[in-house]
Amino acid sequence: MADQDVRNVIIIGSGPAGYTAAVYAARANLAPLVFEGSVTAGGALMTTTEVENFPGFRDGIMGPELMDNMRAQAERFGAELVSDDVTEVDLTGAVKVVKDGSGNEHRALAVILSTGSSYRKLGIPDEDRLSGHGVSWCATCDGFFFRDQHIAVVGGGDSAVEEATFLSRFASKVTLVHRRDELRASKIMQDRAFADPKIEFAWNSTVETIHGDDKLTGVTLVDTVTGEKRELDVTGLFIAVGHDPRSELLHGQVRLDQEGYVLVDHPSTKTNLPGVFASGDLVDHQYRQAITAAGTGCAAALDAERYLADLE
Ligand code: FAD
Repeated sequence: MADQDVRNVIIIGSGPAGYTAAVYAARANLAPLVFEGSVTAGGALMTTTEVENFPGFRDGIMGPELMDNMRAQAERFGAELVSDDVTEVDLTGAVKVVKDGSGNEHRALAVILSTGSSYRKLGIPDEDRLSGHGVSWCATCDGFFFRDQHIAVVGGGDSAVEEATFLSRFASKVTLVHRRDELRASKIMQDRAFADPKIEFAWNSTVETIHGDDKLTGVTLVDTVTGEKRELDVTGLFIAVGHDPRSELLHGQVRLDQEGYVLVDHPSTKTNLPGVFASGDLVDHQYRQAITAAGTGCAAALDAERYLADLE
Protein backbone atom coordinates (compact mmCIF):
# COMPACT_ATOMS: atom_id res chain seq x y z
CA MET A 1 0.00 0.00 0.00
CA ALA A 2 1.04 3.55 -0.67
CA ASP A 3 2.11 5.84 2.18
CA GLN A 4 -0.10 8.83 3.06
CA ASP A 5 1.32 11.20 0.47
CA VAL A 6 1.50 8.64 -2.29
CA ARG A 7 -1.81 7.22 -3.45
CA ASN A 8 -2.31 3.83 -4.95
CA VAL A 9 -3.93 5.03 -8.15
CA ILE A 10 -4.92 8.21 -9.92
CA ILE A 11 -7.42 8.03 -12.78
CA ILE A 12 -7.46 10.83 -15.35
CA GLY A 13 -10.80 11.15 -17.18
CA SER A 14 -14.46 10.64 -16.34
CA GLY A 15 -16.08 9.00 -19.35
CA PRO A 16 -17.22 5.36 -19.33
CA ALA A 17 -13.55 4.27 -19.20
CA GLY A 18 -12.55 6.48 -16.25
CA TYR A 19 -15.67 5.85 -14.15
CA THR A 20 -15.55 2.09 -14.75
CA ALA A 21 -11.87 2.05 -13.76
CA ALA A 22 -12.92 4.03 -10.66
CA VAL A 23 -15.65 1.52 -9.70
CA TYR A 24 -13.24 -1.42 -9.98
CA ALA A 25 -10.33 0.33 -8.26
CA ALA A 26 -12.57 1.56 -5.44
CA ARG A 27 -14.08 -1.90 -4.92
CA ALA A 28 -10.52 -3.28 -4.74
CA ASN A 29 -9.91 -0.90 -1.82
CA LEU A 30 -7.43 1.22 -3.74
CA ALA A 31 -9.17 4.54 -2.89
CA PRO A 32 -8.64 6.03 -6.35
CA LEU A 33 -8.46 9.76 -6.97
CA VAL A 34 -10.31 10.61 -10.18
CA PHE A 35 -9.75 13.80 -12.15
CA GLU A 36 -13.00 14.36 -14.02
CA GLY A 37 -12.02 17.44 -16.01
CA SER A 38 -13.29 20.95 -15.31
CA VAL A 39 -15.68 21.36 -18.24
CA THR A 40 -16.78 18.04 -19.64
CA ALA A 41 -17.05 15.76 -16.60
CA GLY A 42 -18.88 12.60 -17.69
CA GLY A 43 -17.28 12.54 -21.12
CA ALA A 44 -18.70 12.28 -24.61
CA LEU A 45 -22.08 10.84 -23.63
CA MET A 46 -22.95 14.05 -21.76
CA THR A 47 -23.48 15.63 -25.17
CA THR A 48 -25.94 13.08 -26.48
CA THR A 49 -29.57 12.19 -25.97
CA GLU A 50 -30.72 8.57 -25.99
CA VAL A 51 -28.25 5.69 -25.70
CA GLU A 52 -29.90 2.50 -26.89
CA ASN A 53 -26.94 0.14 -27.06
CA PHE A 54 -25.50 0.12 -23.55
CA PRO A 55 -26.44 -3.32 -22.17
CA GLY A 56 -28.73 -3.45 -19.19
CA PHE A 57 -31.05 -0.63 -20.23
CA ARG A 58 -33.79 -2.39 -22.15
CA ASP A 59 -35.61 0.83 -23.03
CA GLY A 60 -32.48 2.93 -23.53
CA ILE A 61 -31.18 5.65 -21.24
CA MET A 62 -30.26 9.30 -21.75
CA GLY A 63 -26.49 9.77 -22.04
CA PRO A 64 -26.16 12.21 -19.08
CA GLU A 65 -28.27 9.92 -16.86
CA LEU A 66 -26.07 6.93 -17.71
CA MET A 67 -22.98 8.95 -16.80
CA ASP A 68 -24.55 10.27 -13.56
CA ASN A 69 -25.24 6.65 -12.60
CA MET A 70 -21.66 5.60 -13.32
CA ARG A 71 -20.37 8.56 -11.31
CA ALA A 72 -22.63 7.76 -8.33
CA GLN A 73 -21.58 4.10 -8.49
CA ALA A 74 -17.88 5.06 -8.33
CA GLU A 75 -18.54 7.46 -5.45
CA ARG A 76 -20.56 4.84 -3.55
CA PHE A 77 -17.48 2.61 -3.29
CA GLY A 78 -15.23 5.44 -2.14
CA ALA A 79 -13.65 6.89 -5.27
CA GLU A 80 -12.61 10.50 -4.66
CA LEU A 81 -13.87 12.60 -7.56
CA VAL A 82 -12.38 15.98 -8.39
CA SER A 83 -13.85 18.33 -11.03
CA ASP A 84 -10.54 19.63 -12.23
CA ASP A 85 -8.21 19.15 -15.18
CA VAL A 86 -4.83 17.56 -15.03
CA THR A 87 -2.43 20.03 -16.60
CA GLU A 88 0.90 18.23 -16.34
CA VAL A 89 2.18 14.74 -15.60
CA ASP A 90 5.47 13.05 -14.90
CA LEU A 91 4.83 9.34 -15.27
CA THR A 92 8.38 8.14 -15.82
CA GLY A 93 9.43 7.37 -12.22
CA ALA A 94 8.23 4.73 -9.77
CA VAL A 95 6.11 7.45 -8.14
CA LYS A 96 3.95 9.25 -10.71
CA VAL A 97 3.34 12.98 -10.35
CA VAL A 98 0.11 14.57 -11.54
CA LYS A 99 -0.46 18.34 -11.40
CA ASP A 100 -4.01 19.74 -11.31
CA GLY A 101 -5.46 23.00 -12.64
CA SER A 102 -4.87 24.75 -9.31
CA GLY A 103 -1.19 23.88 -9.42
CA ASN A 104 -1.37 21.16 -6.73
CA GLU A 105 0.76 18.07 -7.15
CA HIS A 106 -0.60 14.57 -6.49
CA ARG A 107 1.47 11.40 -6.30
CA ALA A 108 0.55 7.80 -7.03
CA LEU A 109 2.15 4.44 -7.71
CA ALA A 110 -0.17 3.80 -10.65
CA VAL A 111 -1.99 6.01 -13.11
CA ILE A 112 -4.87 5.14 -15.44
CA LEU A 113 -5.22 7.36 -18.49
CA SER A 114 -8.80 7.70 -19.79
CA THR A 115 -8.99 11.14 -21.39
CA GLY A 116 -10.89 9.98 -24.48
CA SER A 117 -10.80 11.63 -27.85
CA SER A 118 -12.76 14.35 -29.56
CA TYR A 119 -14.66 14.15 -32.79
CA ARG A 120 -13.62 16.80 -35.29
CA LYS A 121 -16.41 19.21 -35.99
CA LEU A 122 -17.27 21.14 -39.12
CA GLY A 123 -17.22 24.37 -37.12
CA ILE A 124 -20.48 25.70 -38.53
CA PRO A 125 -23.42 27.31 -36.70
CA ASP A 126 -26.01 24.99 -35.12
CA GLU A 127 -23.78 21.92 -35.31
CA ASP A 128 -23.68 21.63 -31.51
CA ARG A 129 -27.30 22.70 -31.01
CA LEU A 130 -28.60 19.91 -33.26
CA SER A 131 -26.16 17.29 -31.97
CA GLY A 132 -28.34 14.34 -30.92
CA HIS A 133 -31.24 15.85 -32.89
CA GLY A 134 -30.18 14.77 -36.36
CA VAL A 135 -26.48 15.65 -36.24
CA SER A 136 -24.26 12.75 -35.21
CA TRP A 137 -20.66 11.60 -35.20
CA CYS A 138 -21.32 7.89 -34.81
CA ALA A 139 -23.21 5.69 -37.28
CA THR A 140 -22.96 2.62 -35.05
CA CYS A 141 -24.56 4.58 -32.22
CA ASP A 142 -27.27 6.45 -34.09
CA GLY A 143 -27.87 4.80 -37.49
CA PHE A 144 -30.84 2.88 -36.16
CA PHE A 145 -32.72 6.13 -35.47
CA PHE A 146 -32.74 7.02 -39.17
CA ARG A 147 -34.63 4.14 -40.75
CA ASP A 148 -36.08 5.03 -44.17
CA GLN A 149 -34.72 8.56 -44.02
CA HIS A 150 -32.35 10.54 -46.23
CA ILE A 151 -28.97 10.95 -44.55
CA ALA A 152 -25.88 12.97 -45.48
CA VAL A 153 -22.41 11.81 -44.48
CA VAL A 154 -19.55 14.33 -44.59
CA GLY A 155 -16.00 13.16 -45.32
CA GLY A 156 -13.97 11.28 -47.88
CA GLY A 157 -11.74 8.92 -45.91
CA ASP A 158 -12.21 5.31 -44.85
CA SER A 159 -14.42 6.13 -41.90
CA ALA A 160 -16.79 8.34 -43.92
CA VAL A 161 -17.19 5.70 -46.60
CA GLU A 162 -17.61 2.97 -44.00
CA GLU A 163 -20.27 5.05 -42.19
CA ALA A 164 -22.09 5.71 -45.48
CA THR A 165 -22.08 2.02 -46.39
CA PHE A 166 -23.28 1.05 -42.91
CA LEU A 167 -26.01 3.72 -42.92
CA SER A 168 -27.34 2.61 -46.32
CA ARG A 169 -28.74 -0.45 -44.48
CA PHE A 170 -31.20 1.82 -42.67
CA ALA A 171 -31.57 4.91 -44.81
CA SER A 172 -33.75 5.42 -47.87
CA LYS A 173 -30.81 7.30 -49.37
CA VAL A 174 -27.30 8.35 -48.27
CA THR A 175 -25.53 11.34 -49.81
CA LEU A 176 -21.80 11.36 -49.24
CA VAL A 177 -20.63 14.97 -49.19
CA HIS A 178 -16.96 15.42 -50.02
CA ARG A 179 -14.97 18.57 -50.60
CA ARG A 180 -12.94 17.05 -53.44
CA ASP A 181 -13.81 15.15 -56.63
CA GLU A 182 -12.33 11.86 -55.43
CA LEU A 183 -12.28 9.89 -52.20
CA ARG A 184 -9.28 9.25 -49.96
CA ALA A 185 -10.75 5.94 -48.78
CA SER A 186 -9.14 2.63 -49.75
CA LYS A 187 -10.02 1.18 -53.17
CA ILE A 188 -12.02 -1.67 -51.71
CA MET A 189 -14.15 0.67 -49.57
CA GLN A 190 -14.71 2.95 -52.54
CA ASP A 191 -15.79 0.06 -54.79
CA ARG A 192 -18.27 -1.04 -52.17
CA ALA A 193 -19.75 2.45 -51.91
CA PHE A 194 -19.88 2.99 -55.69
CA ALA A 195 -21.73 -0.31 -56.08
CA ASP A 196 -24.31 0.59 -53.43
CA PRO A 197 -27.50 1.81 -55.16
CA LYS A 198 -28.56 3.79 -52.08
CA ILE A 199 -25.38 5.93 -51.94
CA GLU A 200 -24.97 9.01 -54.08
CA PHE A 201 -22.13 11.52 -54.06
CA ALA A 202 -22.04 15.29 -53.71
CA TRP A 203 -18.54 15.96 -55.06
CA ASN A 204 -16.67 19.23 -54.53
CA SER A 205 -19.15 20.14 -51.83
CA THR A 206 -19.10 21.34 -48.25
CA VAL A 207 -21.92 21.86 -45.77
CA GLU A 208 -22.38 25.58 -45.31
CA THR A 209 -25.42 25.70 -43.02
CA ILE A 210 -27.59 23.33 -41.05
CA HIS A 211 -31.35 23.87 -40.72
CA GLY A 212 -33.95 22.86 -38.16
CA ASP A 213 -35.50 24.11 -34.92
CA ASP A 214 -35.79 21.02 -32.72
CA LYS A 215 -34.58 18.52 -35.31
CA LEU A 216 -32.48 18.64 -38.42
CA THR A 217 -34.57 19.34 -41.52
CA GLY A 218 -31.88 19.95 -44.13
CA VAL A 219 -28.49 21.39 -45.03
CA THR A 220 -27.20 23.88 -47.56
CA LEU A 221 -24.29 22.63 -49.64
CA VAL A 222 -21.86 24.90 -51.41
CA ASP A 223 -19.86 23.82 -54.46
CA THR A 224 -16.15 24.37 -53.72
CA VAL A 225 -15.42 25.05 -57.42
CA THR A 226 -18.35 27.14 -58.65
CA GLY A 227 -19.58 28.55 -55.32
CA GLU A 228 -23.10 27.46 -56.27
CA LYS A 229 -25.43 26.56 -53.40
CA ARG A 230 -28.06 23.85 -53.18
CA GLU A 231 -30.39 22.45 -50.55
CA LEU A 232 -30.34 18.85 -49.37
CA ASP A 233 -33.46 17.71 -47.49
CA VAL A 234 -31.80 15.37 -45.04
CA THR A 235 -32.97 14.46 -41.53
CA GLY A 236 -29.61 12.98 -40.54
CA LEU A 237 -26.13 14.47 -40.87
CA PHE A 238 -23.20 12.23 -39.93
CA ILE A 239 -19.89 14.02 -39.61
CA ALA A 240 -16.95 11.72 -40.31
CA VAL A 241 -13.98 14.03 -40.72
CA GLY A 242 -11.80 12.37 -38.07
CA HIS A 243 -11.12 12.48 -34.35
CA ASP A 244 -8.24 13.52 -32.14
CA PRO A 245 -7.12 11.62 -29.04
CA ARG A 246 -6.73 13.88 -26.00
CA SER A 247 -3.09 13.02 -25.46
CA GLU A 248 -1.45 16.48 -25.40
CA LEU A 249 -0.45 15.87 -21.77
CA LEU A 250 1.31 12.69 -22.67
CA HIS A 251 3.84 13.74 -25.27
CA GLY A 252 7.30 12.78 -24.08
CA GLN A 253 5.72 10.43 -21.52
CA VAL A 254 4.04 7.24 -22.75
CA ARG A 255 4.51 5.97 -26.28
CA LEU A 256 1.93 7.24 -28.77
CA ASP A 257 1.20 6.12 -32.30
CA GLN A 258 1.48 8.46 -35.28
CA GLU A 259 -2.00 9.84 -34.72
CA GLY A 260 -1.40 10.46 -31.01
CA TYR A 261 -3.29 7.45 -29.58
CA VAL A 262 -1.64 5.78 -26.59
CA LEU A 263 0.01 2.48 -27.50
CA VAL A 264 -0.79 -0.41 -25.15
CA ASP A 265 0.36 -3.97 -24.94
CA HIS A 266 -2.89 -5.56 -26.17
CA PRO A 267 -4.90 -7.29 -24.81
CA SER A 268 -3.67 -5.68 -21.58
CA THR A 269 -3.87 -1.92 -20.93
CA LYS A 270 -0.17 -1.59 -20.06
CA THR A 271 1.68 1.30 -21.67
CA ASN A 272 5.46 1.26 -22.12
CA LEU A 273 5.83 2.83 -18.63
CA PRO A 274 5.49 0.52 -15.61
CA GLY A 275 2.46 1.45 -13.53
CA VAL A 276 0.80 3.47 -16.30
CA PHE A 277 -2.31 2.04 -17.96
CA ALA A 278 -4.54 3.45 -20.68
CA SER A 279 -8.14 2.76 -21.65
CA GLY A 280 -11.11 3.93 -23.70
CA ASP A 281 -11.11 6.06 -26.82
CA LEU A 282 -7.66 7.41 -25.95
CA VAL A 283 -6.35 4.04 -27.11
CA ASP A 284 -9.04 2.88 -29.49
CA HIS A 285 -9.13 3.76 -33.21
CA GLN A 286 -11.62 1.09 -34.03
CA TYR A 287 -14.61 0.49 -31.83
CA ARG A 288 -15.14 3.77 -29.99
CA GLN A 289 -18.23 2.73 -28.04
CA ALA A 290 -19.27 3.38 -24.46
CA ILE A 291 -19.26 -0.33 -23.70
CA THR A 292 -15.79 -0.94 -25.16
CA ALA A 293 -14.46 2.09 -23.24
CA ALA A 294 -16.04 0.74 -20.05
CA GLY A 295 -14.54 -2.69 -20.79
CA THR A 296 -11.01 -1.40 -21.13
CA GLY A 297 -11.53 0.86 -18.09
CA CYS A 298 -12.30 -2.29 -16.11
CA ALA A 299 -9.21 -4.00 -17.55
CA ALA A 300 -7.02 -1.00 -16.64
CA ALA A 301 -8.17 -1.12 -13.01
CA LEU A 302 -7.49 -4.86 -12.84
CA ASP A 303 -4.06 -4.36 -14.44
CA ALA A 304 -3.27 -1.58 -11.95
CA GLU A 305 -4.44 -3.73 -9.03
CA ARG A 306 -2.11 -6.58 -10.09
CA TYR A 307 0.77 -4.16 -10.64
CA LEU A 308 0.32 -2.76 -7.11
CA ALA A 309 0.04 -6.24 -5.60
CA ASP A 310 3.34 -7.20 -7.27
CA LEU A 311 5.04 -4.15 -5.71
CA GLU A 312 4.23 -5.31 -2.20
P1 FAD B 1 -14.83 10.17 -22.97
O1 FAD B 1 -16.23 9.77 -22.80
O2 FAD B 1 -14.47 11.09 -24.09
O3 FAD B 1 -14.33 10.81 -21.60
C1 FAD B 1 -13.07 11.38 -21.45
C2 FAD B 1 -13.04 12.20 -20.21
O4 FAD B 1 -11.74 12.66 -19.94
C3 FAD B 1 -13.90 13.45 -20.23
O5 FAD B 1 -14.70 13.44 -19.10
C4 FAD B 1 -12.93 14.60 -20.14
O6 FAD B 1 -13.44 15.66 -19.40
C5 FAD B 1 -11.78 13.96 -19.40
N1 FAD B 1 -10.51 14.61 -19.64
C6 FAD B 1 -9.90 14.86 -20.81
N2 FAD B 1 -8.72 15.48 -20.61
C7 FAD B 1 -8.61 15.63 -19.25
C8 FAD B 1 -7.62 16.22 -18.40
N3 FAD B 1 -6.51 16.76 -18.88
N4 FAD B 1 -7.84 16.21 -17.07
C9 FAD B 1 -8.97 15.65 -16.55
N5 FAD B 1 -9.92 15.06 -17.31
C10 FAD B 1 -9.74 15.07 -18.63
N6 FAD B 1 -21.25 5.22 -27.72
C11 FAD B 1 -22.16 4.24 -27.52
O7 FAD B 1 -21.78 3.14 -27.14
N7 FAD B 1 -23.50 4.47 -27.71
C12 FAD B 1 -23.99 5.67 -28.11
O8 FAD B 1 -25.21 5.83 -28.30
C13 FAD B 1 -23.06 6.73 -28.31
N8 FAD B 1 -23.48 7.97 -28.68
C14 FAD B 1 -22.58 8.97 -28.82
C15 FAD B 1 -23.03 10.25 -29.13
C16 FAD B 1 -22.14 11.31 -29.24
C17 FAD B 1 -22.66 12.69 -29.57
C18 FAD B 1 -20.75 11.07 -29.05
C19 FAD B 1 -19.77 12.22 -29.15
C20 FAD B 1 -20.28 9.81 -28.76
C21 FAD B 1 -21.18 8.74 -28.64
N9 FAD B 1 -20.76 7.45 -28.33
C22 FAD B 1 -21.67 6.46 -28.11
C23 FAD B 1 -19.33 7.14 -28.17
C24 FAD B 1 -18.96 7.12 -26.68
O9 FAD B 1 -19.46 8.28 -26.09
C25 FAD B 1 -17.46 7.05 -26.51
O10 FAD B 1 -16.95 5.91 -27.19
C26 FAD B 1 -17.09 6.96 -25.03
O11 FAD B 1 -17.65 8.05 -24.31
C27 FAD B 1 -15.59 6.94 -24.83
O12 FAD B 1 -15.35 6.89 -23.46
P2 FAD B 1 -13.98 7.37 -22.80
O13 FAD B 1 -14.16 7.18 -21.34
O14 FAD B 1 -12.85 6.73 -23.47
O15 FAD B 1 -13.85 8.92 -23.16
